[in-house]
Amino acid sequence: MLNYIKLWGVRGSYPAPQGSHLRVGGNTACVEFCVDGYRLICDAGTGIIPLGNHLARQHGNSPQELCLLISHYHWDHISGLPFFVPAFMPNWTINVYAPGDSSAEIETYIAGQMQPPYFPVEVEVWQAKMHYRHTQQRQIQYGPFVINAFYVHHPGITLGYLIKVHDKVIAYMSDNELSFIDRSIEVRKNELNPRETELILAMAKEEWDNAVQQIKGIDILLHDAQYTPEDYQKKQGWGHSCYLDTIDFALDAKVKDLYLFHMDPAYDDDFVDNIYEKALKYCQQYSNTLRCHIARETLLIPL
Ligand SMILES: [Zn+2]
Ligand SMILES: [Zn+2]
Repeated sequence: MLNYIKLWGVRGSYPAPQGSHLRVGGNTACVEFCVDGYRLICDAGTGIIPLGNHLARQHGNSPQELCLLISHYHWDHISGLPFFVPAFMPNWTINVYAPGDSSAEIETYIAGQMQPPYFPVEVEVWQAKMHYRHTQQRQIQYGPFVINAFYVHHPGITLGYLIKVHDKVIAYMSDNELSFIDRSIEVRKNELNPRETELILAMAKEEWDNAVQQIKGIDILLHDAQYTPEDYQKKQGWGHSCYLDTIDFALDAKVKDLYLFHMDPAYDDDFVDNIYEKALKYCQQYSNTLRCHIARETLLIPL
């Protein structure tokens, strides 16, 4: 049995199905982990639609179960769910982990996007056994997967997930602004005296070091790399990272394989090729061990 990670949706913000974008991929966030026959899915962007079609075809009416980890409720991470065929099939059990204080709160957020006037049918038509669970102060165990959720820097409550499976450790951090404190210094520079600036910079370093520690030495990092440095200047505070910050993060944490994920939908394939060329040069300057990749839709990573 092949154990793998498959990328079904890699795009940030909104789908980009234009022909000019398809070497990277147009569907929004969805990553499937399949190990020893257990299936774990990170996020339910539009990438979960073709995954759902595939699962329904593959398994027919036999009893099936899966675990779905939602990072947050922005559209690009949940908008595939109303079209996820297994949710409409009685043979499926779907365990949903997501931000929220209670199962009822999570269910409300998930159901919200299917309420009128936004969608023709409501979640009541789903026939799968849906279990909504929060992740607070709790390790999630699902088959061979041991999962820890942690907060990342993104508007609203957003989770990253550290996933251990057999001898591999993978971090999924789809939306995360690594330089968020530098942003607050920039915004408040006229009101801050040198001492205050120094304190905030120390805080930024501590935050960075803690985040690095959290993913130290892991095998695979899937991380937000939405912007070029130029575009990041215009979009600071939007909750996303410049790809160079993402590479710095992976270098500091001595990650083995980095996948630049959640690229801006305005970036076509040629533009991403150019980013990738620069990313590889940047990596080679500082490390000969980090392997850097563009997260591309349909990519299969053997585990
Ligand atoms: Zn997103
Ligand atoms: Zn988001």
